[in-house]
Amino acid sequence: MISPPGLPVKHLDKWHQFSKFIDAGKGDNFSGMSELKRYFHRFGYLDADDNFTDTFDDTLETAVLSYQKKLGLPITGILDSDTVAQIMSPRCGVSDNTNRKHKIHVTKHYAFFNGEPRWRKPDKSDTWTLTYAFSDNHFINYLSYFDIRAAFQRSFSRWASTIPVNFTEVDDYRKADIKIAFYRGDHGDGVPFDGVLGVLAHAFSPENGRLHLDRDETWAVDLKSSKSNVAVDLESVATHEIGHILGLAHSSVKEAIMYPSLGPRTRKVDLKMDDVKGVQKLYGSNPNFRYTPSMESDISSGIRFGRGRWVTSLVLLVGALKWVGAQQIVEGGLRMAYRRERETEGSRRLKWGRREKGTFC
Ligand SMILES: [Zn+2]
Ligand SMILES: [Zn+2]
Repeated sequence: MISPPGLPVKHLDKWHQFSKFIDAGKGDNFSGMSELKRYFHRFGYLDADDNFTDTFDDTLETAVLSYQKKLGLPITGILDSDTVAQIMSPRCGVSDNTNRKHKIHVTKHYAFFNGEPRWRKPDKSDTWTLTYAFSDNHFINYLSYFDIRAAFQRSFSRWASTIPVNFTEVDDYRKADIKIAFYRGDHGDGVPFDGVLGVLAHAFSPENGRLHLDRDETWAVDLKSSKSNVAVDLESVATHEIGHILGLAHSSVKEAIMYPSLGPRTRKVDLKMDDVKGVQKLYGSNPNFRYTPSMESDISSGIRFGRGRWVTSLVLLVGALKWVGAQQIVEGGLRMAYRRERETEGSRRLKWGRREKGTFC
């Protein structure tokens, strides 16, 4: 077995600098605040601006309020420790606010992409059949192909049990509806990956079908056998990204699969009623769908974040550690997330133009 990639901490350096903003609020001025504004812009909370300043201004306050609402945090309008911890967490690359024009409307449940795109129903059929394939060239080799396939099969089948959609694996990558690949850094779709943690994966709205995983993550199919502190559970991320492929955007329900963040060494694969309701609104219900108690959202079912430990980590961060080991951060209970590069979206659209129907996120 080949070892997983090493543990560069490039992204950690970048997002860690946000720890110095703890307790900052309107009117404060901090060197590097413009970088935080770019972060909010990337994930859909701030409009593009070529000249972001280092001042905590009205627009940043609005962004922080919207972010706190969307992520289910206490709504304070300041960069309290919970908010900063969430911002620093690794996450999905898809923007959180996909129906935004200027005003952010946050609903307390599932969400769709702009225009509510979904896969077209084939003629004369009550069910959809979507094919999927794995890239030969852009793949990882430290997990067995068999295990990766099995993880995806389980992820697909969870969604298929709720809606009248079948997923079938095929060999022809180019012709498959859903194209699954592991990419590192800039990979030509305008939304580059960023190394270990940070952004973990992203997927495109219907009917684009691209599902990309950050090759620099330490992917795991069995967390018990993976020793890495930054191991990311492949099946959890696959299940989330398939939700995007089907047309779901990020949910504000913390326990939902479609919540934008998930901690390393965390397994979160059960669909919640929020996910089920959302996807059934797009495709209708599978006649064989059965409700199970695991679909209820409650604190005991999903991710549990050790707030106390987080605070400890943040204190350490603020204290003196220039480089905070991935281990400490992970122990703090990092949540993950995904990102969208709005700056590059324009150029991506130009680049992909008419060939690519789906929009990113
Ligand atoms: Zn996502
Ligand atoms: Zn990509």
